[in-house]
Amino acid sequence: GLINVSEWLSTAVNRFNLSAKQQGVTLVSEPYPTVSLRGDRDMLDRLVDNLISNALKYTAREGVVRITAAAESDQLLVSVQDSGIGIPAEDLPHVFERFYTVDKARTRKFGGTGLGLAIAREITERHGGRIAILSELNEGTTVTVSLPTVEVR
Ligand code: ATP
Ligand code: MG
Repeated sequence: GLINVSEWLSTAVNRFNLSAKQQGVTLVSEPYPTVSLRGDRDMLDRLVDNLISNALKYTAREGVVRITAAAESDQLLVSVQDSGIGIPAEDLPHVFERFYTVDKARTRKFGGTGLGLAIAREITERHGGRIAILSELNEGTTVTVSLPTVEVR
C-alpha cells in the first residue's frame, strides 16, 4: 500500500508514549516529512516498533529516545537514537544476525531472543532499503534506516 510517512511515524511513536513515561525515559518526536513510501504497513510498523522497543529496553531512567526523519531526494532516512547502555564495538558487526545477543549477563538482565534487529533488517531490505547501526558503549545507540520514497500525484 501507499504509506503516509508523517502519519506512519507519528502513530508509531505514540504507541510508546505511555511505556516511555512509565519508564522515566523522554521520548522525543518531531513533525515528520510529508512524503510517501510504497510498502506493507504491518511490516513497516514492526520495523519501527522493533527499533523503538530496543531503544527503550536498553535505556535507563532519565534517558532520552529520539525518533527523527528526513527526506533526501528519493530516500527517507529514519533514525532511532537513544542515550542508553550502548553496544561493545566487537559485537556491533553481529547484531543484525538472527539470535545474536550481546552477552550472557545482558541477556539475563534484559531477556530477548536476538531477533528484533534481524527482522528489522529483513523488512528494510524487502522494501529496497538499508539499515545501519552506530553505537558507543555506555553512551548510546543510533539505528538509521533508509527507504526509497515515491512521488504521489
Ligand atoms: P528481541 O528483540 O528478539 O526481543 P533482543 O533485543 O536481544 O531480543 P535484537 O533486537 O536483535 O535482540 O538486538 C540484538 C542485540 O543488540 C541485543 O541483545 C542487545 O544487546 C543489542 N541492542 C540492540 N539494540 C540496542 C540498543 N538500542 N541499545 C543497546 N543495545 C542494543
Ligand atoms: Mg530487540
